[in-house]
Amino acid sequence: MEINLISDTVTKPSPGMLDAMMSADVGDDVFKADPTVNRLEEKVANLFSREAALYFPSGTMTNQTAIKLHTNPGDQLICDKYAHVYNYEGGGVSFNSGVSCKLVDGHRGMMTSDQVVEAINPPDFYHSPLTSLVCIENTTNKGGGACWDFSELVRIKEVCQKHGLAYHLDGARIWNALVEKGETAKQYGELFDTISVCLSKGLGCPVGSVLVGDKEMIDKALRIRKILGGGMRQAGFMAAAGIYALDNHIDRLADDHKKAREIGTLLQSLPFIKKVEPLETNIIIFEINDDYFSAEDFIQKLHKKDIHIIGMGNNKLRVVTHMDYTDEMHETLLKTLKNL
Ligand SMILES: *Cc1c(COP(=O)(O)O)cnc(C)c1O
Repeated sequence: MEINLISDTVTKPSPGMLDAMMSADVGDDVFKADPTVNRLEEKVANLFSREAALYFPSGTMTNQTAIKLHTNPGDQLICDKYAHVYNYEGGGVSFNSGVSCKLVDGHRGMMTSDQVVEAINPPDFYHSPLTSLVCIENTTNKGGGACWDFSELVRIKEVCQKHGLAYHLDGARIWNALVEKGETAKQYGELFDTISVCLSKGLGCPVGSVLVGDKEMIDKALRIRKILGGGMRQAGFMAAAGIYALDNHIDRLADDHKKAREIGTLLQSLPFIKKVEPLETNIIIFEINDDYFSAEDFIQKLHKKDIHIIGMGNNKLRVVTHMDYTDEMHETLLKTLKNL
């Protein structure tokens, strides 16, 4: 039995999801004539109480489109040093938008409103790049699935308003935060100019992300998606998976979180684990005590038992729980770790 915990993107469509996909009513979405894509976009827009939404092939493309929407070449955006937009989008910020990043030294991928204020370049000092956008990530990926304190997000919004900055949320795993903190999508919709959400992470779709915002913004996003090559034809087959996931796969994230906590608690008790980072959702980041073995040895030991996890650099390892990680796999994993 293969146990794959490298990411929550390794899931395959469930039978119910496959049925929904196979029976989807489709059309050519480049002509905006795919009824299922239109239905998904409307559903996500409503969920966040916003005017409009647009379906994309990836979360990288939704983020990159948002950055393009909110900036001009030469501008600077503010984000945490762990941000996905900075670390894991291939340098797209500079490639696509001609923008640089002012990195904030936050905590587990999260910054304070004071840090954001400090990171803003004075707009009348024309020698430095013009600050035009603040990007937030919730939950944080490199930060180990950490969830923001909502009141801090409100304070940063106030900073953005005061300084005329756009406010974007990379909500690839916002669903995990909503479930864990008992928050609503509407709360987030009210706060941010644009929100990017992934359907292909914890929600278990094969592909797909959605960008949410007001109508004028999303009309512009349609042109940028075209330029980036993100227009798809009968995408309703995929969008149907998204609708199914929104209806069926959000609440169950609590189970991923519970399993993650159980793994974290066990790891904490093992002599060869030096440290487990605080754990809130479905991502567990931990360090190996190299008096016992190296991180690479640990990965190989598990690999031999058909258990797969990945390194994050600096002797840190990552485990991510997800929909296809069953109770049986969970028992096997816990037993294997205990006997390692
Ligand atoms: C996965 C992820 C994305 C988008 O990734 P794609 O693989 O392009 O869909 C964006 N932000 C965060 C925080 C992510 O984890």
